Amino acid sequence: MSSTKLKILVPVKRVIDYAIKPRINKTHTGVETKNVKFSINPFCDIALEESLRLREAHKGIVDSIHAVSIGPTKAQDILRTAMAKGADTSTLVDVGDEIVEPLQVAKMLKSVVEKQGLNLVVLGKQAIDDDANQTGQMLAGLLGWPQATNASKVELKDEEVFVTREIDGGAETLKAKLPMIITVDLRLNEPRYATLPNVMKAKKKPLEKLKPKDLGFESIENRLEVVKVEEPPARQAGVKVENVDELVAKLKELKAI
Ligand code: AMP
Repeated sequence: MSSTKLKILVPVKRVIDYAIKPRINKTHTGVETKNVKFSINPFCDIALEESLRLREAHKGIVDSIHAVSIGPTKAQDILRTAMAKGADTSTLVDVGDEIVEPLQVAKMLKSVVEKQGLNLVVLGKQAIDDDANQTGQMLAGLLGWPQATNASKVELKDEEVFVTREIDGGAETLKAKLPMIITVDLRLNEPRYATLPNVMKAKKKPLEKLKPKDLGFESIENRLEVVKVEEPPARQAGVKVENVDELVAKLKELKAI
């Protein structure tokens, strides 16, 4: 990677904090979002961390790291966090309370990539709210760029990017030239925490605020409707058996064997 400078985009989604058990809303159309802690989607945090590590490992190679979030006004908080961790600049595409489906997100990201002349997009493999696992793939399709999904290792060598992916019983390594899309898996790295001085400094970093129409989208086009959201069935209490004979008899009684 001697001559091409990396201009990285890290899309970050604001989701209910991973440590919180979501509650289904009264109308069974989604989860309760009032008075719930929201954070940066964990996989997006890993994507950001990997971008920061590329910059630290290859001095002078990374030109810029830009974070973007498509979400409510409050998504500014996760952009400030991303900048406190090391992103240089950020953009919020404020869609208010609207839900935006992955294809629409990908179209907006494409527009940001083209406007800013970026050449590497590092995304999470999935957002833990909808578990769609679609955005990176759709963005690659829309841009016509190569994609390496579910990265467990990312390396830069000369003019190429090598991405290792965990597959059943082993690992697969792919290589591609820039521009490209990478989506990241859980074991790629452990994201850093933002230090207090960096949180203070991030307040001065640029946060651009756009509306979808600034990117050329007059309305949000959604094509899916949530019909019903249900809790998994409650587990029934177990039975204790004294010995193996009793266990076998019980399993036979339940027609399990
Ligand atoms: P998904 O395809 O929804 O599972 O999300 C995969 C990845 O796409 C996330 O980890 C983010 O990097 C990105 N992404 C999805 N939705 C958004 C959004 N609303 N704003 C910014 N990035 C997003």
